[in-house]
Amino acid sequence: MKVCPLCNAIYDGHRWVPEPDEALRKEAARRNPAKEKCPGDLRIERRQVEGVVTLKGDFLQTHKDDLMNLVHRVERKGRSRNVAARLMSVTENDHQVVIETTDDHLAERIGKEVEKAFKGELAIKWQEKDRFVRVTWTRG
Ligand SMILES: [Zn+2]
Repeated sequence: MKVCPLCNAIYDGHRWVPEPDEALRKEAARRNPAKEKCPGDLRIERRQVEGVVTLKGDFLQTHKDDLMNLVHRVERKGRSRNVAARLMSVTENDHQVVIETTDDHLAERIGKEVEKAFKGELAIKWQEKDRFVRVTWTRG
């Protein structure tokens, strides 16, 4: 058993559990597991960006909170499936929000969920060789 010192994810011997329930947390405390960074935090440390999502357009100005709530919901859901899928950074300015992710599929999913919830225009561009995707969502 291992525990991530940064996000408290627990490795139970088979897989990393991002949001361990109380039973697992108690068992971990009892066993005094080694501290080891989980794959998500390792990717953040290495600055391993696999996806960039850009949200822009006038709609963003009036609905930024709704959009960001959705982005964080998608991240939480993605992370429960893949502990390595995380948001690395969120940068906002007057015109756009730029989100870097540690997982290409997470970036794609964020774009698709935003489009599903708020319509707008979605462009998804995969880079040929590497695992990298650029996702741009626009709503005027
Ligand atoms: Zn972690």
